[in-house]
Amino acid sequence: MNDDLRALIRTIPDYPHAGIMFRDITTLLLDGAGFALSIERLAAAVASDFDQIAGIEARGFVFGAALAHRLGKGMVLVRKKNKLPGAVIGVNYALEYGEDRVEIHADAVIPGARILLVDDLIATGGTALAAAQLFRVAGASVTQAAFVIDLPALGGAARLRATGVEVSALLAFDGD
Ligand code: AMP
Repeated sequence: MNDDLRALIRTIPDYPHAGIMFRDITTLLLDGAGFALSIERLAAAVASDFDQIAGIEARGFVFGAALAHRLGKGMVLVRKKNKLPGAVIGVNYALEYGEDRVEIHADAVIPGARILLVDDLIATGGTALAAAQLFRVAGASVTQAAFVIDLPALGGAARLRATGVEVSALLAFDGD
C-alpha cells in the first residue's frame, strides 16, 4: 500500500545518532506528483468532523499546511519553545535524553475545537502525546492524528490510539 510514496522516501542510516534509521521526507517533497498524492491520500484517510488542523514543527508544517489548504480549515502551529511572539501555553515532555517543550499561541484554539494533528512521522509518540496534552490545556481535544509514516515497532500510534485518538498513517516502516 502506497508503495509509490514509499519509493520516494530516503532512508539515512545513523542520523542523527548511531543506530537511528532516519526516514527523510525531503525527497518526497521534491517530487511534485508524489507530494500532491500524499496530501490527497491524507485527505482521504481522515474523517471530516474536525475544526482545526495542528501541524507540529517543522515537517508537520509542510504536510499540515497543504492539508489545511486542501480541506479548507485553519491551522494552528505547534512550535518548539520560545518561537511564538504572542502569549503561549506550553507543555514539557521527556526525550530520550533530557526534555523538550511544545507551545501554541494561547488564543489560537477555538474553544471546544476538535483538532486534527499532523506530522511527518510518529515514532514513540512522545511529541504527539505532548501536543494532545497541550490542546487539552487549551480547552480543545485532539480527536484525530495523521502521519505520512508510522514506525509501529516504537509504539507511538498505539499509545495515541489508547488515549482515544483516531490515528491514520500512509506508510509503516519496520524496525526503528
Ligand atoms: P516521537 O516523539 O518519538 O514520536 O518522534 C516524532 C518526531 O521525531 C517527529 O516530528 C519526527 O519528524 C521525528 N522522528 C523521530 N524518529 C524519526 C525517524 N526515524 N526518521 C525521521 N524522523 C523521525
